[in-house]
Amino acid sequence: MFELNDNIVRKNILALKPYSSARDEFSGDEGVFLDANENPFGVLNRYPDPHQKELKEKLSKIKSVPPGNIFIGNGSDEVIDLTYRIFCNPGKDKALTFSPGYGMYEVSAQINDVELIKVPLNQSFQIDFDIVEKYLNDKALKLIFVCSPNNPTGNIIDNIDLLLQKFSGIVVVDEAYIDFSNTDSSVAKINEYPNLIVAQTFSKAWGLAAARVGIAYASAAIISLFDKVKPPYNVSGLNQKAALEALENYPEFEKRKAIILEQKLWLEKQLQNIPVVKKIYPSDANFILVEVTDAGNVYNKLVDKKVIVRNRDNLVKNCIRITVGTPDENKKLIKELSEL
Ligand SMILES: *Cc1c(COP(=O)(O)O)cnc(C)c1O
Repeated sequence: MFELNDNIVRKNILALKPYSSARDEFSGDEGVFLDANENPFGVLNRYPDPHQKELKEKLSKIKSVPPGNIFIGNGSDEVIDLTYRIFCNPGKDKALTFSPGYGMYEVSAQINDVELIKVPLNQSFQIDFDIVEKYLNDKALKLIFVCSPNNPTGNIIDNIDLLLQKFSGIVVVDEAYIDFSNTDSSVAKINEYPNLIVAQTFSKAWGLAAARVGIAYASAAIISLFDKVKPPYNVSGLNQKAALEALENYPEFEKRKAIILEQKLWLEKQLQNIPVVKKIYPSDANFILVEVTDAGNVYNKLVDKKVIVRNRDNLVKNCIRITVGTPDENKKLIKELSEL
């Protein structure tokens, strides 16, 4: 049985009495507010809702998850960082992730002085359970990060359920790209698996990378730990408003997503006819991993033409990662690539 006790949560976090803000102690809308040392003049002069109530309620309806199972952070990078801080004692505990994968799990591990074990994905970029299982009984292993659809490979990771069943620590499923996929989100499983955290973001399909709004879905007990460790007003009023407006304009979200997915198909088709392209990996995201004859060379030549892609050669030999752009941007990319 999974229990959120001090075998899994850091003792100092369990014991922590969080900062209580002025808006925690009085949260009504009306009155003369002389409690938070704010400036009485201006438009952005008041502190934002520390609990992002409106945003959570709206998300709750769209995602069919109660507000008590939602945490909003300053981008999912903050969600990743807080996860380390809640569960991993610096200099002692370990985390595990897969390679090739998203680089922030490692940077955040280093910042938090946590040893990160990187397990290679197999030839199809799927989890190799024979390797992973060797690590699962280590008492110091507290966290596993899985990115699905995976960055930079673009594929959905299968058998996440198996991982959740075999591992008695926390599994974070990073779903930054899930809205581009037809595969179901793991969010529906947070009641079934008390050790599951699902991270999502407004940065990709919702088009709000500049706003920095990330989400964690998990059991109410895990969410209350996030609430304990977050800075009091961690999501700015401007960002809460931007996210809320995006959610209220669902038809625009659907429309843009449809264009991106249609453009991805177009790009995949065009890339097949380009001489330097050796392999196009299938993608469930808004980017395509492409093996070329010489990634460094292709990258530099594209930069000369003012087209910037991501050279992922250090992660997957001779691969570049291409984000799906607007129809004009994609045409420009294909034109320059075919002239190499
Ligand atoms: C882009 C991306 C994110 C987004 O992080 P934000 O901090 O929310 O912008 C998270 N995870 C992965 C795998 C990504 O590629």
